[in-house]
Amino acid sequence: MRPDHIAIVGASLAGVRTAEALRRLGFLGALTIVGDEPHVPYDRPPLSKGYLAGTRRLDQLPLHPPAPMLEDLDVEVVTGIAATGVDLAARILTTSDGHTIEFDALVAATGTRLRHLPPETMATTGPPVLGLRTLSDADRLKPFLTTGANVVVVGAGFIGAEVASTASQAGCNASVVEALPIPLQRQLGAEMGALCGRLHQRQDVRLLTNTTLAQVDKTGVVLSTGEHLAADVIVVGIGVLPNVEWLEDTGLDLSNGVLCDSTLRAHTDMVAVGDVARWPNTRYNETARIEHWTNAVESAEHAAATLLGGNDPFEPVPYFWSDQYGAKIQCIGRTTGYDEVRVVAGSTDDLKFLALYRKGDALVAALGVSMVRQVMGFRQLLLDRVSWTNALDAVP
Ligand code: FAD
Ligand code: NAP
Repeated sequence: MRPDHIAIVGASLAGVRTAEALRRLGFLGALTIVGDEPHVPYDRPPLSKGYLAGTRRLDQLPLHPPAPMLEDLDVEVVTGIAATGVDLAARILTTSDGHTIEFDALVAATGTRLRHLPPETMATTGPPVLGLRTLSDADRLKPFLTTGANVVVVGAGFIGAEVASTASQAGCNASVVEALPIPLQRQLGAEMGALCGRLHQRQDVRLLTNTTLAQVDKTGVVLSTGEHLAADVIVVGIGVLPNVEWLEDTGLDLSNGVLCDSTLRAHTDMVAVGDVARWPNTRYNETARIEHWTNAVESAEHAAATLLGGNDPFEPVPYFWSDQYGAKIQCIGRTTGYDEVRVVAGSTDDLKFLALYRKGDALVAALGVSMVRQVMGFRQLLLDRVSWTNALDAVP
C-alpha cells in the first residue's frame, strides 16, 4: 500500500532531498519535514570553507532546491522542533513541543552531532572551545579567525584540516593536533594520508601527530607531550555521533546509526538516509555509515524509491571531496583493506597527483589531489567494477 503521509525527521540535506525525490517519483500525498535547528535547511560544506572565510554569504547557503522551493513541492517544513520519540506500531511521532504527528511512512534523516572532548580537560576560564557542525557554530567561530590569532585545532580529520586551512588563509597562526601518527589514515590509508598531511606543512601550519590535548588552561592548551600552545580559540573536530536517541524505544538496531537492509529500509514503512543510515553495501560486502554529502543525496534518491515500493539494493560507489589550502582532494570508491595504492599521474612533490587503489585484481578507489578532471574519469570504471589492468590502461 502506498503511504498517504510521509514524515521526514531531519531538515537538512538527506531529508530535503528525500522529499524532492518523492515528489519527482510521483508521490502526491502529504509530506512533513521536522527539523530541530532554527534555520531553514542549508548546506553544510561551505561552513568550513567559503562561509567561514567570509567569501560566501548566508543567502548563498541554501540547499538545492532552494528552501523557498520546498513550498512549490508542497512540503510542510517545521523548524526548531525535535522528534523526541516514535511508536512504529501506532505510527505516531512525538515532538519536543508536546505535539504528535501521525504518519504512514517515516524517514530518519537526523544526521550526526559533534563528539566532545572529556569535560575534565576543560578550564573554567580560558580560550573558547568550539566545534563546527551547524550554521550557529560557524557564526560563533567566524569572529575569532582574524589576522595573527592563535588557533589550535584538535583533530586532523576533515573538519580540522578545512578549519586550519581557512584560518591560515585568514592570517591566523594555526596548529593542528592529531591523535594518530598520520592524518586521514582511516579515510585514505597511511601513504596518501601522509601526503595530504603535507598540505598543512606547505602553508606553515604546524601538524602535531601522535598528540592529544591534555588540558585547556587560561591561555591555551597543554598537550599530551607536555608542550604548551597559546590559543585565542580552540576548535575541536574529533568526529561525530549519529542522532538516534529519538528512536530508542523502537527496538531497532541503533548501534552506530540506524541499521537498514540493503534497500535502506529500517522497518516496515521506514527508511533511513544520509549520515545516520548504516546499511550493507552489497558492492563491497560491508555494512557501514558514510558521512559525506554525495551519500546523503544518493541515499535520499534511493530510499524514496524504496518507500514507494522499490526493492533494489543501494550499492553506490562512495565519493567525497575536501578543499584544503587551495587543493581539492577527491576520493571515489572504498579504500578500506586495499592491497596497493599507486600514484599514476602528476607529482607528489607538487601535491598534485592521481592515485589508484587495488584490492586483489580490481580497482577499488581513485584519489585525486587537484586533479579534478582526471579523477572523475574513474567514476564509471569503478561503477563497472573494472580490473586493475584495465584501470591502469585508462590512466590519462
Ligand atoms: P545532517 O546534515 O547532519 O542533518 C541532520 C539534521 O537533522 C540536522 O539539522 C539535525 O539538527 C537534525 N536533527 C537531529 N536530530 C533531530 C531530531 N530528533 N528531530 C529533528 N531534527 C533532528 N561532505 C563532503 O562530501 N564534502 C565536504 O566538503 C563536506 N564539508 C562539510 C563541512 C562541514 C562543516 C560539515 C559539518 C560537513 C561537511 N560534509 C562534507 C559532510 C556533509 O555535509 C554531511 O554528510 C551531510 O550534511 C549529511 O546530511 P544529513 O542530512 O544526513 O545530516
Ligand atoms: P573525522 O573525519 O572522523 O576526523 C576526526 C579526527 O580526529 C580523526 O583523525 C580522529 O582520529 C581524530 N581524533 C579523535 N579524537 C582525538 C583527540 N582526542 N585528539 C586529537 N585527535 C583526535 O571527523 P571530523 O573531521 O570531526 O568531521 C566531522 C564530520 O563532518 C564527519 O562526518 C566528516 O565526514 C564531516 N565533514 C566532511 C568534510 C568533507 O567530506 N570534506 C568536511 C568537513 C566535515 P581517530 O580516527 O583515531 O578517531
